[in-house]
Amino acid sequence: MDWADELAERVRGSGPQVVNDSKTPSGTVHVGSLRGPVILDAITRALRATGIETTLLYGVDDLDPMDAQALLTPDAVDHEMGRPLAHVPDQVDDGHASYARHHAGIFIDTFAGLGIHPDRYYWMSEIYAAGEMDPFIRIALDRASLVREIYQRVANVRHPDTWHPISVICPNCGKVGTTIVTKWDGERVYYECREALVTWARGCGQSGWVAPYGGAAKLPWNLEWAAQWSLFGVTIEPCGKDLATAGGSRDRSDAIAREVFEREPPLNVPYEFLNIGGKKMSTSKGRGAAAHTIAEVVPAEQLRFLFLRHRPNHAIDFDPDGTDQIPRLFDDFDKFAAATAGREVRGDLPPGSEATFRYSLLDPDADVAAEAVAFRPAFGHLAMLIQVPGVDVVELVEAEKGSGLTDHERALLDQRAGAARAWLDAYAPESARLTIHREGLPEAAGELDAGQRRFLARLAERASREEPASGDAWQTLIFAVATDEGVPGRKAFEAIYAAFLDRPNGPRAGWLLASLDPAFVVARASEAGGPAGASGPAGAGGAAA
Ligand SMILES: [Zn+2]
Ligand SMILES: [Zn+2]
Repeated sequence: MDWADELAERVRGSGPQVVNDSKTPSGTVHVGSLRGPVILDAITRALRATGIETTLLYGVDDLDPMDAQALLTPDAVDHEMGRPLAHVPDQVDDGHASYARHHAGIFIDTFAGLGIHPDRYYWMSEIYAAGEMDPFIRIALDRASLVREIYQRVANVRHPDTWHPISVICPNCGKVGTTIVTKWDGERVYYECREALVTWARGCGQSGWVAPYGGAAKLPWNLEWAAQWSLFGVTIEPCGKDLATAGGSRDRSDAIAREVFEREPPLNVPYEFLNIGGKKMSTSKGRGAAAHTIAEVVPAEQLRFLFLRHRPNHAIDFDPDGTDQIPRLFDDFDKFAAATAGREVRGDLPPGSEATFRYSLLDPDADVAAEAVAFRPAFGHLAMLIQVPGVDVVELVEAEKGSGLTDHERALLDQRAGAARAWLDAYAPESARLTIHREGLPEAAGELDAGQRRFLARLAERASREEPASGDAWQTLIFAVATDEGVPGRKAFEAIYAAFLDRPNGPRAGWLLASLDPAFVVARASEAGGPAGASGPAGAGGAAA
């Protein structure tokens, strides 16, 4: 991902930078919504690495109207639809001050765990209440005809000549989604709370003159966005592709920024969606996985990597449910680490893979070279190992590494083992689950060829004589018997997996057998070897793999 470094290079010399993003907390926030914050953070890191003074802001647009009926209790729909999200009570009894605080809070709580630390969070309900939007409200109302003309020109949206760019929070019913302003006398606006202004909320019919300041009213989204840029001095703001279409939200806000608030809009970095199972994840429809749920399974560095391994304009398909996509995400991460460490890797890596690895790390000040060489066990293998009863995972992983784990590597192992457990619980396909078939010979054992059966029979004989006591001893014995019988290693391992697990693959076979009761291992191998094991022709099934 050279793009963040390229962006930093582009703005170098143009002074301190303010990077901003904001979100409407309209419901459960899905994992795709983390793409914005992760991109924001990578940009901020790239700017700071270039020596550019940078402020990272994250806003919550919590004065936006409640428009997600499905997320309200049935008796709350009529009363709450159309009210500002900050004024809707939390629908879950867990101590948040509002619906907005609940959903934004849960989402924002994932940021620190992902290494994203905005210098400031702002809540639009507080910004309005503090009067900070008042100057922009006045300008927007004074230039209402210009705003109408911009909507017409940029978006081909025609508002009536009496339309004014402000929504009053109805002093009678508290709704903001149902009001329209038709007059401005320089101090107050004349508003109507219309019963049928929108289909999703019902106004109360009240009308009158009110001063639109100090949180009594809010700007429509396009103006609010442009006003945020002026208020906070935003210089860079990435946004989702849906907002960045021609004549779309971003175009309107850009024009409003230039012509109404007379300030150059921030640099845009449009980014594509993360699709779950090929569909765009939607905030309000409840499809896909919540950001905080995925973050409980996929550790920070792999989750950052999920978003950063592709350029922002590249859509990401992610479908963790019942697939091996999470193990593959870890494998790819490990591949980027290996390449960063200068080791040879299979297959092509995209340009900038070292930067992708660097920006995927949790700690912006991490020693990248040390992180790259740290030993990380393969996720899929670990997911099997932890299912073998009685296995000493640390000992086995150290054997694989060939030396002891450092404290940091031990922490990475613990984290990865936890992720593997969570993955097995939440997403893994059935094929990833290991079951030791203790009761009777599994079906797969019936399909072994004569060579494999002979191998198992001999393995049983020698194991009962030699009593291998460790994973390594078992592993050595497996190879010795396979060689003696002319059975390729791959076939030998398949035979063991079939006889004990009813599947063609599994964790390292020596470790698997060492974790089981020796008498059971001998009896099962002997049974699976069967009479054919003793009488099969030498070399059968021994074709080179
Ligand atoms: Zn809550
Ligand atoms: Zn009303």
